[in-house]
Order: sequence, then C-alpha cells, then structure tokens
Amino acid sequence: MKMHLGLKALLLGVLVGCAVPYGIFTWASGIDDMIELGLLPDEGHVTVTLLRDGRGVPGDRIVLRTRPETIVLTTNDAGQVQFPVSGRLREQNPWMEFRSASGPLPLWSRKIGWGANLTFDCDPENAGALVHGDLAALETLEVGPDALHYEAGLAPPMVEAHISRLAASRRGLQDFFGIAPPPIAVAVLTANFEHIRFPADAKGRPVWVVGAPNAMAREYSKVVHEWAHQILSQDFEMVDDPADRFLEDGLCEWSAHWVEKRSAASEASWIAADRYESLRDMPTAARFDLQELAEDHSPYRNGDDMASILDTLCNDLEGGIGYAVGLAFWLSQEEADPDYWPRVRARLATEKLSDALGADPPGLDREDLSREAVLAVLARNARSDSDRK
Ligand SMILES: [Zn+2]
Repeated sequence: MKMHLGLKALLLGVLVGCAVPYGIFTWASGIDDMIELGLLPDEGHVTVTLLRDGRGVPGDRIVLRTRPETIVLTTNDAGQVQFPVSGRLREQNPWMEFRSASGPLPLWSRKIGWGANLTFDCDPENAGALVHGDLAALETLEVGPDALHYEAGLAPPMVEAHISRLAASRRGLQDFFGIAPPPIAVAVLTANFEHIRFPADAKGRPVWVVGAPNAMAREYSKVVHEWAHQILSQDFEMVDDPADRFLEDGLCEWSAHWVEKRSAASEASWIAADRYESLRDMPTAARFDLQELAEDHSPYRNGDDMASILDTLCNDLEGGIGYAVGLAFWLSQEEADPDYWPRVRARLATEKLSDALGADPPGLDREDLSREAVLAVLARNARSDSDRK
C-alpha cells in the first residue's frame, strides 16, 4: 500500500507540466476532451507551442475559421501562441489552418507537431479542479530575464530565497547547456498551488507554479526539468522523437540533478536518491533498453484521443522506470568521461539527441542497461534524506 502511494506521488511529480504532443485539426478535436477531463479551463487561454520539424518557429500562424471573423494567432519567438478557449469557439468548432509567414503549411507534407504544456492530476477526485490564476493579483519582480510572482503576504526572506533560487537555476542551466536559457516566470503560491495554473505572462514567458509550503529544492527541480525541455526544444536540434523520450527525460533529470548539486555544493543529489528508491521498490526486468522502454510506455503510440493518452500516462506506473534509467544512463556517461557531455552538447546544435550520442558512449549501453548497474550508479549519486535542504 505504501509503495503504491509512493509510486503515485512519484508519477505526479514526473508528469507535472510535461508536454503532451497531440495532433489536432479542428479546435474541438483537441480542446474538448481536455476541458471535459478538467485539464483546461473552459474560458481563457492556454499556451500552445507549434512545432515545425520539431522546432518552434516565430511568425507561424494558426488560423481559426471562426464567424463572424477569422482569428489569426501568430507565434512568438518561442513558437508559442495564446490559444483561446471559450464557449463560442466550442460551439463553432472552427477548422484550423497552419501557415508560415510565406503561405500555408500543408500538414501532410511537413512534420508539424502541436504541443501544449498541460498540468494534470491523475487522481480522479481532482478532475476539473484546475483553475486559471490571475498574475495581476500577485506581486511581480523581474529577476534578470525571468520573473518572480508571489502573494503580497510572502515574507521578505522567502522572497529573497526564491529570487536567489531562480537566479541560481538559470546560472546552473546556462553552465550545463552552454547557452542562455529562454526566459521563464515562477509563481510562488501558498495555497491551492496544486490546482492553479497560469497562461504565459505578458512577455510570453511560461509560468511555473511553485508551492511555497513544499521543499524549495524539490519544487525548483521540477522547474529546472521543464526548463531543460524548453531549452532543448528551442535551442537544439531535437525533441519530438518518441523513441528518444527517456533519453530526453533522463537528460532533463540529469540537468536538475546537476543544478541541485551545485546549489547544495554537494557531490550528490536527492533527485538521484528519489529515483534510486522508486526503482529499488519496483519489480522490473533485469535489463533495460531505453528505446524499448519508451516504446512500451509511450502515450504517443495510442494517442489518437486525449483520454487514451491520459489513461496511459496515469495508469502506466512502470513508465516511471524510464526516468530512473534515463538519469542513470547520463550519470554513467559523466562518471566514465567528464568530457563526454560537452562533446554531445556541441553536436546537439545540428543533430538529434540519439545521433549526437555518437557511436560509442563511454558509460552504460543505452540498449542494454542492467538493473543492478542502474541502481548502483543512482546510489553513488544519491544524497541522503537528512542532508536535504
Ligand atoms: Zn519531462
């Protein structure tokens, strides 16, 4: 019983904010299911990223053939639009067209992906509980290119702590990836933070919710994980390959581990510790293949409706294995050759993730990782709970 609860908590942690790619052609074909499942508000906006060949392209357009006049949404620098959600659109269910600045983008000839950052809760009791928050009701502080939003009552030392965490997360990711991360915003909430979500702010920055009562390190590790996804999709030649799902999620976990180690001035992290404990307590195969794991636990393969994607995500507890194994894969490369990652990172500018790994990564073999070796590398990098800040 306890293990089941533990796994569930882990899964929620993993899934919060992860992008769910979902092809849609009419407004309602994507949005309706999500509203019904309580994942989206039924009035307001959601941030949608339009990917072309796996990348967000500024200046692309989504045209909604609505009456009395069409709505044209133009992507920002991050390839994102604020996608309207309303009863009128629901009723009209307009056809959607995708256009570049120079003309229509034929969906059948280009690989066009449509992804929205959704947060959802697998607990059916919470279905429908997500609400849109209002940034105008919060205090706002610019922190370099990023922003911190918080409730007026938050104690000044806490505000200071969040400012330095946010800035340290940016610095850490900048060092890890060798480029300046795209701007984000964080909203620190003291209550109901599981259920309040914000659309992108006025500058187009995605807003990640941080629960003030929770451990700050844990909350920011989720932010860093999602931020890393954003860096990878915007600034590198990758993502959008379901087969690489756990290579990418492992890399995002590793970047969070790396940033956390730096913040704590430690050689180990509790991120590796959490992954170690979850895998140790789970009955699994004796050997793993990262691509096979992705295929076995990918919501994409049966993803022709949102409900089945969510069902897979919520009920496929073993999918959590991929995060642990993916993290172990990257940790083992770093242990075997600290110069390996800078070489991979340089290749990521022009190659997709699985190609950028090269012919012979120095650590564990991604097609054949033993459970024993995975647990061992996670344990070596795990920080004990008593050290947690
Ligand atoms: Zn992820």
